[in-house]
Amino acid sequence: MDFGLKGKRALVCASSRGLGLGCARALAGEGVHLVMNARGKDVLEDAAQKIRDEFGVEVETVAADVTTEDGRKPLIDAAGEADILVNNAGGPPPGMWQDWDREDFIRALDANMLAPIALIKALVPGMMERGWGRVVNITSQSVKAPIPVLGLSNSARAGLTGYVAGTSRQVAGSGVTINNLLPGIHDTDRADALDRAVCEKEGISMEEARARRCAGIPAGRYGTAEEFGAACAFLCSRHAGFIVGQNILLDGGGVNATL
Ligand code: NAD
Repeated sequence: MDFGLKGKRALVCASSRGLGLGCARALAGEGVHLVMNARGKDVLEDAAQKIRDEFGVEVETVAADVTTEDGRKPLIDAAGEADILVNNAGGPPPGMWQDWDREDFIRALDANMLAPIALIKALVPGMMERGWGRVVNITSQSVKAPIPVLGLSNSARAGLTGYVAGTSRQVAGSGVTINNLLPGIHDTDRADALDRAVCEKEGISMEEARARRCAGIPAGRYGTAEEFGAACAFLCSRHAGFIVGQNILLDGGGVNATL
């Protein structure tokens, strides 16, 4: 299947590792030129060089914090006339509902709701003028089924989901789609960190923590960044123009719901 993406240009936020990197690599595999981003310069540049070597596409890197206005400025400049925007940032820390204060919520909202909205507002008008664009937001399965210890994530991502539901319908007529990809448990540094937190809290080994989480996934395993990236590339493809404002779970069946 020809995804029709060769020569297009994408900004992939938070993409030196994990799911963001999976998306960057899958898009590069379809011939998309990239702007990649993360806070740390060295890991980001390493990941970018591997992609240049492997796929022969142009990759610009911007080391910046996507959750701040100052960090987004150079990203938006580098993105220029981007055809594709993949929104991503680190997830909020786990905790207990009664411990989070206003500052914790503001940080989570900045990272997982207001940053993607700011980038949509910066880049979508140009896509609409040019008559084609794709936005994919990496959110979480917690949008469909709450993860109690990730209340900050549940809250901030619900806000983004509501914004996308309305906005995607306002821009679809100009050839721009906005959709959300909802990861269930994937084998990344983030999953490791959450597993480690469980080990420390419950005094169990990493193997035990993983086995417990796998037991709740009908597919019997964690997802991979490659699979996740492939789904993102499809949503960006010319075949996905009729998919508008959707929330697509990639969770190995983990969320036990009919719809
Ligand atoms: P990860 O920790 O493996 O990778 C995060 C990437 O984002 C890294 O490249 C990191 O450098 C970059 N990053 C983090 N904060 C940033 C910032 N402020 N500015 C710029 N770059 C930043 O995480 P992941 O597993 O790939 O998760 C990606 C997103 O998906 C997160 O929001 C996470 O909460 C969510 N998610 C992940 C899973 C999972 O199982 N992995 C499940 C549900 C939701």
